[in-house]
Amino acid sequence: MTVDEAGAVRGERRGQIADALRSLDERIAAACAAAGRARDDVTTIVITKTYPARDVDILAEIGVRDVGENRIDEAADKHAELADVAARLTWHQVGQVQTNKVAALARWVDVVHSVDRGRLIDSLDRAAATRGRPISALVQVSLDGDPRRGGAIATEVPRLADRIASSSHLRLAGVMAVAPLGSEPDRAFAALADVSQAVQARHPQATMISAGMSGDLEQAIAHGATHLRVGTAVLGSRRIRQ
Ligand SMILES: *Cc1c(COP(=O)(O)O)cnc(C)c1O
Repeated sequence: MTVDEAGAVRGERRGQIADALRSLDERIAAACAAAGRARDDVTTIVITKTYPARDVDILAEIGVRDVGENRIDEAADKHAELADVAARLTWHQVGQVQTNKVAALARWVDVVHSVDRGRLIDSLDRAAATRGRPISALVQVSLDGDPRRGGAIATEVPRLADRIASSSHLRLAGVMAVAPLGSEPDRAFAALADVSQAVQARHPQATMISAGMSGDLEQAIAHGATHLRVGTAVLGSRRIRQ
C-alpha cells in the first residue's frame, strides 16, 4: 500500500467509526430522555477487544476518552504501541482476570470492572502498591447466580466491596454486570440497581454502575447505568468471538 492508499483506508475507517459514534450518541440521548436522566450522567466506554491499535488511535482522535479491553495481553500490546495516545485515555479491563495476570494488568489498567473474589482484591492491591498509582475497582455481580462466567453472587458483594474499600491502593468505584444470556435485561439491570444501592449505603462514593452493551443499553440506562460498555455498535461485529 502506498502512503496515499493507507491514508484513504484510515480516512474511510475514521468516517465509519465517527458515523457509528453519532448513531450511538442518538440512541443514548433518546434513552436518557425516556428515562428522565441527564445525558451527562452516562459515559460510554468503547470496548476495543479484537480491534487493532489503529482503531484505538482513531477513537482517541475523534474524542473518545474511555476504552475497554477483555484480554490482558492483547491490551498490553495495544497500550505499548499507542504510547502517548494511550496515556491520554482511561483504560478499563472488563474481562475476567486470572490472579497470575494481575502484574501484567497493572502496567496499563486504570479501572478493573471484573473484581469478583477476595484473592483478586489482595493481588490487585499489591500490584497497585508496586506501580505507585491506585487502581479503581468495581465488584462484578453475577445476576444468574452462576459464577462460572465471572462475577460474585449478590449476597457476597457487600463483603467484597468492604474489602476493596479497606484496601490501601484500590478505590472502590461501584458495581458491574453483564445481563445473563437468554434472560430479560430489564430484570437483570433492576437487580443490579438494588445491589448498587446496598453498596452505596455503605460506601457513598461507589456510584458507578457499569451495565449495558450494544444490544441492551436502553434497558441499562432505564435502570441507572452510569457507564455503558459498547463494542459492536461502534466498531462492527467481531470476527473472533470473545
Ligand atoms: C465485549 C464486551 C462488551 C461489549 O459488547 P458489545 O455487544 O460488542 O457491545 C461489554 N462488556 C464485556 C464484559 C465484554 O466482554
